[in-house]
Amino acid sequence: MRPPSHTLADHTTVRLGGPARDFIRADTEEDLIAAVRDADDAGEPVLILGGGSNLVVADAGFDGTVIQVATNGVSACGHPGLVTVAAGEDWDAAVAWTVAGGLAGLECLSGIPGLAGATPIQNVGAYGQEVSQTITSVRAYDRVTGKTGIIPNEACGFAYRTSVFKRDDERRHVVLAVTFTLAVQALSMPVAYAELAAALGVQIGDQVASTTARSAVLELRRRKGMVIDPGDPDTRSVGSFFVNPVLDAAGMAAVEAAARARCGEGTRVPRFDAGDGLFKVPAAWLIERAGFGQGYGLGDGARISSKHTLALVNPGSASTAGLIALARHIRDGVRDAFGVSLAPEPVLVGVTL
Ligand SMILES: Cc1cc2nc3c(=O)[nH]c(=O)nc-3n(C[C@H](O)[C@H](O)[C@H](O)COP(=O)(O)OP(=O)(O)OC[C@H]3O[C@@H](n4cnc5c(N)ncnc54)[C@H](O)[C@@H]3O)c2cc1C
Repeated sequence: MRPPSHTLADHTTVRLGGPARDFIRADTEEDLIAAVRDADDAGEPVLILGGGSNLVVADAGFDGTVIQVATNGVSACGHPGLVTVAAGEDWDAAVAWTVAGGLAGLECLSGIPGLAGATPIQNVGAYGQEVSQTITSVRAYDRVTGKTGIIPNEACGFAYRTSVFKRDDERRHVVLAVTFTLAVQALSMPVAYAELAAALGVQIGDQVASTTARSAVLELRRRKGMVIDPGDPDTRSVGSFFVNPVLDAAGMAAVEAAARARCGEGTRVPRFDAGDGLFKVPAAWLIERAGFGQGYGLGDGARISSKHTLALVNPGSASTAGLIALARHIRDGVRDAFGVSLAPEPVLVGVTL
């Protein structure tokens, strides 16, 4: 087998990132833990690498050890519907396996790139489902105690696109496996997302065959460049570059006032109820209304996807510096237009926004 490339652009979906000083591929849990422990003992900076679909790495690369998770195994044992997926399993393959096996709860998360072990990190979600709804527990290696333990859902601190794993700057936990409790049924969970309901021709709350829901989600995602396709430059991204801002009533009123002043009196800012009196506003709407349309770029390669305003892409000639400059430009433009500061969704390594 060829040794893995040390160039991180070869391991990230946006195809950016310079060299790693050291690169280790861990095919077993024992190898993964040993690699992390050895690097920690040596005081070496560590970057855990999954599928590289939520990573923006500096052009200078990573001055430390990159440890690529390549473990595998999906098992359904014990209680019906209980499925444990090794961190290194391809996420979409795992979803396909559950849907084909008559298990519901992950069907709307079809087509999300990356590996299973990364899904709890930012509580991946799409089309009305989040992994926090079905994760029972996460098995992880704790870099502080040097022990492996089981972290129940309640202790994972899941929220919109985040968790204790993502909030912890020291990256204390290495996820080894994730256990889900899924419904044993051929029908999907009730459809909870208006765009998906419309595509399926059903009402919110209706159920369809899980296989049908999966196909519809994949089709919607493909149209937006949200399924990796090596032939489609619009899929060379990290998915959404910004998280949708969550605003309280006062913040919402301020954005509405700015939107009316900018776009006309009749303008209504779209929003989703985020509970507790909070509203989630589509970042894509703010970006477009701030003047950054699909295909927009600063002329140095990086640009907004021509299929989805929230994805910043590297069509081939971009650098990380160029991608970050574009992201800053958009963030500042949205702040000037609406007073909202967009936060990045991906993990930034060696760069800041
Ligand atoms: C086209 C496209 C569409 C996308 N659509 C969505 C979407 O709909 N919804 C969504 O939520 N996300 C989406 N994403 C983002 C991304 O796919 C997810 O966040 C995914 O879970 C990242 O997995 P990964 O294995 O690629 O992680 P990586 O990018 O390799 O790593 C991400 C972070 O997790 C850490 N990490 C990875 N594995 C482990 C582990 N085993 N233990 C500890 N830390 C670990 C890394 O160190 C890094 O900090 C999309 C990305 C792309 C490119």
